[in-house]
Amino acid sequence: MKEDTKLAHAGRDPHAHHGAVNTPVYHASTILFKTMEQFVGRSAPEVRIKYGLRGTPTSFALEDALTALEGGHGTVLAPSGLQAITMALMAFLKSGDHVLVTDSTYAPTRNFCKNVLADFGVETEYYDPTIGSGIARLMRPNTRIVWTEAPGSQTFEMQDIPAIAAAAHSAGAVVMIDNTWSGGYYFKALQHGADISVHAATKYVVGHSDVMMGAIVCNEKTYDRVKTRAGQFGNFAAPDDIYLTLRGFRTMGVRLPRHFESGLKVANWLLARPEVAQVMHPALPGDPGHAIWKRDFTGASSLFGFVLKTKDRPRVAAMLDGMKLFGMGASWGGFESLLIPTWPETNRTATKWQAEGQTMRIHIGLEDPEDLIADLDAGFARLNGK
Ligand SMILES: *Cc1c(COP(=O)(O)O)cnc(C)c1O
Repeated sequence: MKEDTKLAHAGRDPHAHHGAVNTPVYHASTILFKTMEQFVGRSAPEVRIKYGLRGTPTSFALEDALTALEGGHGTVLAPSGLQAITMALMAFLKSGDHVLVTDSTYAPTRNFCKNVLADFGVETEYYDPTIGSGIARLMRPNTRIVWTEAPGSQTFEMQDIPAIAAAAHSAGAVVMIDNTWSGGYYFKALQHGADISVHAATKYVVGHSDVMMGAIVCNEKTYDRVKTRAGQFGNFAAPDDIYLTLRGFRTMGVRLPRHFESGLKVANWLLARPEVAQVMHPALPGDPGHAIWKRDFTGASSLFGFVLKTKDRPRVAAMLDGMKLFGMGASWGGFESLLIPTWPETNRTATKWQAEGQTMRIHIGLEDPEDLIADLDAGFARLNGK
């Protein structure tokens, strides 16, 4: 099945639900059994529906859909992207272990390693995102996980996932990626060597800025362990949110190409602006990560970065405060555009982020890019004091 067909059909079984096209929302805690034998036998793995916390047809529908999208073996949902990240990590770690984490990772992942993993006796070491097969030099006998994210949060460096995975696997580690940026649509992480692909489905899968959702898509080697550990933690994602996430999933194949195209259009426009020192977008031919992106990805999302020539706070504030179409807020992946200032230099330890001026993160929504460009153009006039 091709991608867009999977998006329309995966995780659906209408005739198991009176012909309803979409899997209905099951609200359930208690699941009743008719006989004592069935009740006693409910813990057998083939009994899928046993207790609300352990899954319903609603949660299995989204899990199966995401598994099909990424070509995985199984998926575990989580109530947020961050929870999916922390649970994937906790599934494989014990005190005394060592974890390698890309220096460009999502800041709350770093915060979890620093504040929670450290308390449990797990050592985190950060590495240069562009290290590639050089990761082999950092592998230790107790290195349990190599954590990747491509492109990196805020700075958008690409990572050579196949090279990192080969080195990590030969040293016995599990390879995980935060694959949120590609939506699982433009990058097939498991086919490129990752064992686990983690998503903030909150972003492109949901696509409407109204639901928090996380997913851990696993290969065969890792699924049982993640599923078991998530159960031990009492992990659960709520049924109405799962339903909305599935609704977003069905239209990813039309939304993402539009995001890609409009994002690239705005990125090229920014590249030509005199106020802009640098644009970080791996689909631009001049980007340092372009060759890897072209080799491994089939498209790009519309979240990228740029650096202004100025750092002057009142001028940057004048630009941002007056934006008409771009909102200022965390998260991304919705139908609406966003523009925020970022400070990547505060989230680095293994490498340095050196930028001439203020770093910005932009998300291009589904508006007409000409209107977005006009809004940015007026913003630059304010930045220039006009
Ligand atoms: C937003 C985000 C997350 C966290 O997702 P939430 O659902 O907001 O918890 C994780 N990784 C990346 C790259 C993100 O952008």
